[in-house]
Amino acid sequence: MKPIIGVMPLWDDEKDSLWMLPGYLDGITKAGGLPIILPFTDKTDEIKQLANMCDGFLFTGGHDVSTELYGEAPIGDVIESCSKRDEMEKVFLQIAIDNNKPVLGICRGIQFINAALGGSLYQDIPLQYPTKTEHRQSAPYDVPAHTVSIIEKTPLFNLLNTPKIQVNSLHHQAIKQLSPELKEMAISEDGLIEAIYMPGHKFLWAVQWHPEYSYKTDSNSKAIFSEFVKSILKNQD
Ligand code: MN
Repeated sequence: MKPIIGVMPLWDDEKDSLWMLPGYLDGITKAGGLPIILPFTDKTDEIKQLANMCDGFLFTGGHDVSTELYGEAPIGDVIESCSKRDEMEKVFLQIAIDNNKPVLGICRGIQFINAALGGSLYQDIPLQYPTKTEHRQSAPYDVPAHTVSIIEKTPLFNLLNTPKIQVNSLHHQAIKQLSPELKEMAISEDGLIEAIYMPGHKFLWAVQWHPEYSYKTDSNSKAIFSEFVKSILKNQD
């Protein structure tokens, strides 16, 4: 039986519809998992039932996290949030943590997990963290935009066994204050946190870059998806 990964749905405000980028699903499939796109629901009992069906969860990219989640007022008009995602993902994250089920967060995923666990965010990098590093590259998205340093003795370092990698980058927000429940694993060349994990959890990792765009050509991206799915198989032994 392949591990079932519940994938957080993306939301299209214009079409009033959920949608999905195939790379999230294909990255999981290539790693040996079976992805399912979760529906939107605000009913906790339904979320619990759905979560019970899943062996792990992918927290996808997309909308900004609502600033309310980390106790700030929005600055200017830089925030485009999606409350139905925040509300539903809060419940899924808590269930995953309570049940020690593997979680991988990507882009919004790292920001959401950090904010939901008591951290805060830069609402807008150009406004609040002026930098020459290209964090919001233009297409194609499967090529590197900047480097990150990987911190020794972290699970990501143990996996990739290298102090520096090239990553793509497509974000205008980033972690400001790191949640006390999380530890950093990678830092961009201009000092932003680009990967985190939760010590003591079977597998709760998140990255600020986009392995779902680069897993076909970039062995590091592929390795992250593989390690995620592998952690579930370890769970079932
Ligand atoms: Mn970046």
